[in-house]
Amino acid sequence: MAKVIAIANQKGGVGKTTTAINLAASLAAAEYNVLLLDFDPQGNASSGVGIDRSRLELTVYDLLMRKQPIESIIQPTELPHLSLVPSTVDLVGAEVEMATLPQREFLLREAIKPALGNFQYVILDCPPSLGLLTLNALTAADSVLIPVQCEYYALEGLGQLMRTISLVRGSTNPGLEVEGVVLTMHDSRNSLANQVVKEIKANFSGPVFKVIIPRNVTLAEAPSHGRPVLLYQIASKGAQAYLQLAKELLKGAAA
Ligand code: ATP
Ligand code: MG
Repeated sequence: MAKVIAIANQKGGVGKTTTAINLAASLAAAEYNVLLLDFDPQGNASSGVGIDRSRLELTVYDLLMRKQPIESIIQPTELPHLSLVPSTVDLVGAEVEMATLPQREFLLREAIKPALGNFQYVILDCPPSLGLLTLNALTAADSVLIPVQCEYYALEGLGQLMRTISLVRGSTNPGLEVEGVVLTMHDSRNSLANQVVKEIKANFSGPVFKVIIPRNVTLAEAPSHGRPVLLYQIASKGAQAYLQLAKELLKGAAA
């Protein structure tokens, strides 16, 4: 049965999608069968692994709202062990439509169930909000991995996310774990970034991954080639950092 990991942080632009794509690809490179599920109407995880969103017939919208079977929606990617459930802007509509449905927080959990036997990992790329989509992801997940950007306001918002995780534990998903915080976009020449790393380690009581994802231009370029960074420039610091993150995750090493 797959382990389902939600990549979440309601702050925008902190590296959620970059982490979702490259963690999923790194696990797939280690020959784990991985399903990357794009749960953001922006669809960046889909285009980032080379899916042409204008040609899609079925997306995560059809999975949630039209009850289409997940097997009909899963797409292969260039990496043999990595599959994708794509998303488009239609997903905005789903968030509105689901608001009045009974059991609305459980739609994703129910929809992915039939696929869990075929994968070892399901990685959910969440949108930058704590709305119903993210609540669905946190309800469907075994754990949540939180990318935090190394910047001055890094800790802002983390408290609210942790409170949301507590609320989800108390209602729709008692078993939800925190996989860990991963620090992203670290610029070693910037002393502020180093200070943020210290501050997070001192003030965040949950697990933090040892590896720190550097600010690395190849990570920003790879999506425009429709590829995870390890198929674009495997020797880059960015690719190596995400391979390391996958290793730590496999060992359960975040402390
Ligand atoms: P959103 O909240 O909009 O979904 P996000 O949290 O998913 O954003 P990303 O899309 O992963 O964040 O990253 C934001 C931008 O920063 C993107 O242009 C991405 O290419 C770039 N980026 C992410 N991580 C890095 C990094 N380590 N080094 C350089 N650029 C990065
Ligand atoms: Mg994103």
